[in-house]
Amino acid sequence: MSGGNITKPKPRVGIYGLTGCAGDQLLLIHCEDELLDIFNAFDIRSFVMASSNPIEEDMDVALVEGSVSTEEQKKHLMDIRKRAKILVAIGNCATVGGVQAMYAQDGTFKDRMKKVYGDMKFITEPMEGQPLDAFVTVDYYLPGCPISAKQALPLLSRLLHGAPPEPFPHPVCHECKLQENKCLLLDKKFCLGPLTQGGCGAVCPSHGLPCVGCWGPHSDANFKEHITLLESFGMTKDEVIRRIRNFGGHKILAYIKDL
Ligand code: SF4
Ligand code: SF4
Repeated sequence: MSGGNITKPKPRVGIYGLTGCAGDQLLLIHCEDELLDIFNAFDIRSFVMASSNPIEEDMDVALVEGSVSTEEQKKHLMDIRKRAKILVAIGNCATVGGVQAMYAQDGTFKDRMKKVYGDMKFITEPMEGQPLDAFVTVDYYLPGCPISAKQALPLLSRLLHGAPPEPFPHPVCHECKLQENKCLLLDKKFCLGPLTQGGCGAVCPSHGLPCVGCWGPHSDANFKEHITLLESFGMTKDEVIRRIRNFGGHKILAYIKDL
């Protein structure tokens, strides 16, 4: 009896984009040193940035970027969900709704659409941008604007080996401290690091720029206390909340509803 190698089938992957800037898909394409390994390890079935000949069948993993902003996208997402064993939301738009959701649920969507587009007829009905989990179950979240290779590549590696992504429970301040930066709050700068999901490596404060919260809200953040602190720097509460909402999308509403 011959002892040949048993070849495991490669996990089938689809990478999709809804409403967003496509920066998360681009980030994956820009992992030039790892790209061949990614394409060798996975059977990439659908990825508009890499191939114009998608195979839309069942798959093991779907990575989906962008918010759901039309009825057609909602149907597309539901179809992806049906076909994928694991669905990962990638980027700020997919995880919280993105900048297009900065006025989420304030009742002005129709008026804003009319102001910009007048009475234009659309091929598919537009809707206020919402994160993926407003419509389907999301298995894992990869935040970022865009996502970082430092988190995306380990996630792919772990999924390849059947393990869930490593949890990343820290806010931006944690990474900022590891970089030994002087805290910008000491100079009364409006940094949102304490409220923001970490993972970017505190890239903005490391260059002297306040964090504007682009990785979305951190679930354990003390919004009340930080808003009070920023008010003491001379900003109104409304202005602080407006800034927090820029990248907070729908997810921020639960944290600020009682403030
Ligand atoms: S500079 Fe910003 S991110 Fe860094 S520790 Fe201070 S508040 Fe946190
Ligand atoms: S704005 Fe904040 S979360 Fe976004 S990259 Fe800069 S430091 Fe990171």
